[in-house]
Formats: sequence, structure tokens, C-alpha cells
Amino acid sequence: MTPDAGWLLRRVRRAGDRGLSDVLVRDGRIAALGPAGSVAAQDAEPVDLDGRVVLPGLWDQHTHLTQWALARARLDVSDAASAAEAAAQVRERLRAGVPAGGAPLVGQGFRDALWPDEPTVALLDEAAGDVPVVLVSGDLHCAWASSSGLRLLGVRPDDVPGLLREDDWMPRMGLLDEGDAVADAAVAAGLAHVATLGVVGVVDLEIADNVAVWRRRAAAGAPPVRVRAGVWEQFLDAVLTEGLRTGDALAPGVTQGPFKVVTDGSLNTRTAYCHDPYPGTSGRGVLTVPPERLVPVMRRATDAGLTCAIHAIGDAANTHALDAFAATGARGSVEHAQLLTAADVERFAALGVTASVQPEHAMDDRDVADHHWAGRTGRAFPLASLHAAGVRLTLGSDAPVAPLDPWAAVDAAVLRSRDGREPWHPEQRLDLDAALAASVDGEPLGLRVGGPADLVVLDEAPAQRLARAGTLRGTTAAGTLVAGRWTHRAW
Ligand SMILES: [Zn+2]
Repeated sequence: MTPDAGWLLRRVRRAGDRGLSDVLVRDGRIAALGPAGSVAAQDAEPVDLDGRVVLPGLWDQHTHLTQWALARARLDVSDAASAAEAAAQVRERLRAGVPAGGAPLVGQGFRDALWPDEPTVALLDEAAGDVPVVLVSGDLHCAWASSSGLRLLGVRPDDVPGLLREDDWMPRMGLLDEGDAVADAAVAAGLAHVATLGVVGVVDLEIADNVAVWRRRAAAGAPPVRVRAGVWEQFLDAVLTEGLRTGDALAPGVTQGPFKVVTDGSLNTRTAYCHDPYPGTSGRGVLTVPPERLVPVMRRATDAGLTCAIHAIGDAANTHALDAFAATGARGSVEHAQLLTAADVERFAALGVTASVQPEHAMDDRDVADHHWAGRTGRAFPLASLHAAGVRLTLGSDAPVAPLDPWAAVDAAVLRSRDGREPWHPEQRLDLDAALAASVDGEPLGLRVGGPADLVVLDEAPAQRLARAGTLRGTTAAGTLVAGRWTHRAW
């Protein structure tokens, strides 16, 4: 709830300020800022923050919200170290109960790139019997299904010995969805959870008719975080017909997001499109959308007022993506930007293209990268190089690929380490302020009058917590405001 005259947040600690401040929040914005005791607003409701830290709220600039929300309820096979182990986890789960009504058992999160054994349909059939089982890879780019799982996906089991990859899989992903009501409830629960982390906004790049999806969801009330709903090529006509531009309101709390194109695959699936072949092969990955298709479609979206979010992971895919930005004058981001040539790092800056990166992927994929990008990892996930070149960075999770938790993203960016391991290419660490700045949607860490009243209240400054606990993982917010409304308040 918001009182009509807003909130007067008293005794706030702001980034870069030794003293305490008052922050007046009114009409969804920061209306006044000043030293504690100096801001008068008799009618605003005072809240004494008692020296707590207030920062701009956190954004996750790359999510697949429905997949993420549903994955929170799915069998987690992310720690399986082999195909046999994943199959054993399936067998175990089915022993505890078979999904009702012929529904599939869906698992999520496997990473097969370093498995010693083959994920064959036959192996999964041994564990699953007649139950349809579909396991979705951690990077979402492939799936491993049992025979009846394949039939459910409309694939003849005889045609597929093992994994369904890329174009054989991606368009079928939606077949696993359990219906709008289940998905909407899962998303609502998930967003309520991330509000407790201090998240105030997400970019949703779900492959769906996101205009319709979010209008439906917001009809029940504005979501507890701001949503920018991306549009994929197959839904572009409808968006253009309606004349929707990036930033236009779709529904309360929901705006039109960027135009999304996936131009290559992923590292785990060895489909990221690279200048050099993968070790021991002649394969350079898969360029799913070549320049002659990418340029016209980006031009069309740009002319219509949409920004572009172009997925490129391999260095060659990034080169093509930047070429397309240069050719079209499009504004927007390259999503992932995992392997870059030095020249392309500079081009990001020169073209004003944002690098929308997911630092936690570097932690998930460091061993895979050491193996499949051997000799090239010095320019993999090159966050410090991008920052030093003056490139605008934004952080995200690509949830469900990584957890929707900006603190994990910031931690991975700042430490390049997890689980007590040696930092991986520590020369590519971001400093904490740069990582936070990449997480607050362009707002100054010290707040500004006129800025959105999308704020996170913390019991402890991130730098202090990092020094004390050695990690930012597990950080929760004491309070979260979106447009001047408390979406979370722990005290
Ligand atoms: Zn993604």
C-alpha cells in the first residue's frame, strides 16, 4: 500500500555518502533527497530505516520467466555427473510416484557436455518404462526424452537416438507447459519470492505471445516486479500491427521489451558459433540466423521502434551480431556475449551496444569452457575487458539456466569463483560498484531525484557483507519498493 502523500524514508544510508539521508518517495518516484532531518514532508508517512542501506532496486535483464517458474517445481537433475546418474534420479523420482493423468515427468538442468556416457533414449527408457519423461538441459538448448516422452513431443522415437537439439527441440519446449493457470500461479509465486531479494524488474524473453500472456497476468493486478516483455520473430507481426514500441505500456507494471533473435546455440551443446573449430572436430557450431536473415529483421524491428536483443555466444556469432547492429543502426544488446575477440570488445563500445551478460554462466561452464574453448578462455566471459572498454554492461541470469538471483550474478562477476574454487580468470573480475551498477537498470547507486522509487533496503552494505562473509550469495532484502509500493518488507 502507498499512502497518497508517499513515504518519507528517514535515516537512510546511501552509496557514496558517509552521513545519513532522508528520501521522499511520492507518485512512484524519488521526490526529494537530503541530509537526515532536512526533508520536510508533513503528510508523507515516515519510515525510520535506522541507518539501513538503500540502493536502486535490482534487475535481471534476461529471464525465461515461465520456464523458470515451472522449473522451480520440476525434478532437478543439475547435479548429475553422468547420463546414468540422471537416469537413476528419474528412476528414484518415479519410485516415489508417477505423475497423474498421463502427464510427463519433466526434469530440468542437466549438463551433458562433460558426461562420460551417452544420454541415449534406451538408457532413459530403462529408468522410465512407459512414463513419458523429458529432461531439459541446463542451457535449454536440448532435451533428453524417453520413448514415450518423445511421442508426447510429436517425435518418432526411432528417429532420435539421444538428445533433441536446437531446432528439433526449441519449438517443442512449450508442449511441456502445464496450462495457463499452473504457469501463472507459478510465475506469481516466483515473482513474490524474488521481491524478497530486492528484485524490482525483469526482462522476460520467454518464447510465447508475451503481449497476450502479460495482459492476462496483469489483469489480476500489477506484478510485484516490473516486467519488460520481449517479442520473438514469430510474434513480431502482432506487435508491429498494434504499433507497440519498446517501452510502451502493455498493462499495469508491464512494458513492451526488446525484439529477441537467437543467432547461435550454446557452449554446452557445442553449438555456439565460433571463429575456430571445437577441439578435435571441424565443427564451429551453428549459426541459426545468418546475416542475410538477421539484418532485414533487425531493420524491420528498429524502424518500428523496438530495441533488439540478439543472442550470440560464440565469437563468430558476436561478430555477425555487431555487424548487424552496425548495418541497421539498431539499438539494444547482445545477449550472453560469452566469447569475444578483442576487436569486437571495442566494437561494442563504438556501436553503443549493451553487453547483456550472465556471470553465473561462467561459474557453471568454466570446466566446459576450459575443455571446449581450450586456449581461448582468456577472452571468455570478458567482463573486465568490456567494462574497461566503456561498454554498457547489464547483468542477468537467463533463468532457469541460472537461478533468478541478482546477488549470485553480482557475486560471480566480482569473485569469478564459487564453491571455494580458485577464481577463474580473475583478471576478468568486475569491481563491486561496476557489478552493482550493471544490475540497477542505469540508475546511479547513490539515487537521484526524479528516479523511479524502485528501491531495495539492505541491512548491510554489499561491500561490508562481502568483506564479512566473503560472498554476496544468500543476500536478502530488508525491504523492496516498486514504484513507491512495498513489494516486500521484512521488518
Ligand atoms: Zn535466454
